[in-house]
Amino acid sequence: MNVKEILLDFSKEELRELFTGYGQPSYRAEQVFTALHNNLAFDAMSSLPKRLREELEAQYYTPPVRIVKTLESADGTKKYLFALQDGNVIEGVLMRYKYGNTQCVSTQVGCRMNCAFCASGLNGLVRNLSAGEILGQIAAVNADEGGNTEHRKVTNVVLMGSGEPLDNYGNVVRFLKNLSTKGGLNISMRNVSLSTCGLADKMKAFAEEGLPVNLTVSLHSPFDEERQKIMPVAKRYTIAEILQACDVYFGKTGRRFIFEYVLIAGENDTKRHAEGLISILKGKPCHLNLIRLNEVKERNLRGATDKNAYLFLSMLEKGGLSVTLRRRMGADIDGACGQLRQKYLENGETI
Ligand code: SAH
Repeated sequence: MNVKEILLDFSKEELRELFTGYGQPSYRAEQVFTALHNNLAFDAMSSLPKRLREELEAQYYTPPVRIVKTLESADGTKKYLFALQDGNVIEGVLMRYKYGNTQCVSTQVGCRMNCAFCASGLNGLVRNLSAGEILGQIAAVNADEGGNTEHRKVTNVVLMGSGEPLDNYGNVVRFLKNLSTKGGLNISMRNVSLSTCGLADKMKAFAEEGLPVNLTVSLHSPFDEERQKIMPVAKRYTIAEILQACDVYFGKTGRRFIFEYVLIAGENDTKRHAEGLISILKGKPCHLNLIRLNEVKERNLRGATDKNAYLFLSMLEKGGLSVTLRRRMGADIDGACGQLRQKYLENGETI
């Protein structure tokens, strides 16, 4: 298959160079950068000469991500299945809040972390997404919702879909820079959260980039041995190493970090776990988000009961932690990481 280069991978500077090469005036880069972020196909870029559109079409691919299926939950949450140029499929979610709409994007096709509760790792990693394929998810949904680069319908972004963002480091950094460039979607990095399973060395490197995104770490247990059973990657990085990387991040950016904690019945939701969390997190510049497990049928784990979830929350509050229990969204539409893609792969559906 002839796979074309993805034009949405390019920064505005790179587009300037490209169009100079085509003998075009420099304002073409601005026009095309905006058009790409508006999810336009080449033949819809009406401000460009037809000949140039044809030349671009022959060599480049856009939009890089195309919506193939949309599911809407009773609470307004929307789930999307997207197709990529090579036929792979990925998924994303749009959640509606009072302050705006948050889109959850994927950073890889599949994932190699294989966390015990998660659907994304069931078939391993297929490949990394390019910067443009990550950005393209937002461009597609923003346009689908009737937005554009002037009036955005997507205001916040979380890198919490399938994949491990810091396992696709270069493309994710490029994506963040392009996403926050003027003339494009121009979403501030302060409105972006990057969630990692805790690749401590990459977290430290990321702190050095000086990008003001919110750093979120999936913790899921205060004890290394038990964490290893929930997250195999914990065999490579201890909690102490992760906390140290968080301190480095705070030192460099002054930004409080956030821990995610999926409540799994009997596995990590007991008094002992609450005490463990208090002992490692108390006094740190951090916030803890408790998440109800979205049960994945291939994974034999149950979510904590409501009663236990609230009990766990109150123990942590009493212990002095800044903590919230997230309300459940989109559970009726396979809202969690990788669930929709998994169903799609199982059913052997074709696009
Ligand atoms: N690899 C990154 C980002 C993807 S997972 C990470 O590990 O953080 C993003 C968040 O979704 C994580 O906190 C993860 O714990 C949560 N998650 C994944 N599957 C889930 C499920 N079935 N139910 C609830 N939360 C889930």
